[in-house]
Amino acid sequence: MPECEVCGRRIDRAKRVSIDGIVLETCNNCSTLGKVIRRKKKKAFVKRHVPLPRIQPEEVKPKELNADFSKILRERREQMKMMQKDVALKMNLPLSLIKRAESGFRPEDSVLNKLERFYKISLFEEDE
Ligand SMILES: [Zn+2]
Repeated sequence: MPECEVCGRRIDRAKRVSIDGIVLETCNNCSTLGKVIRRKKKKAFVKRHVPLPRIQPEEVKPKELNADFSKILRERREQMKMMQKDVALKMNLPLSLIKRAESGFRPEDSVLNKLERFYKISLFEEDE
């Protein structure tokens, strides 16, 4: 336990006091004899006019094809009560392409985009 450097009393917490230019650790009572030196504040608490960093917009991630795209295509077609050949005919696409897309083969993005527009669905996932 520290002792007051002025009166010698045992103290729980010493106060740093400047008495006639001499820094002493004193008790509460003796601290009134001089000028209490406040402990330096941590830098983090120092108020400064620092502009907040601007939040950068996240990079636009490339769209990912939904893993269930073939299932989506098939279910949507069945929902519309269309046969694969009807879709092929209406979209002017080879029937084999429709069949392949519905069995999990990924067609070109241009075809996927056409299918999206035709079925009014979204085959790509947009991550956020
Ligand atoms: Zn004292």
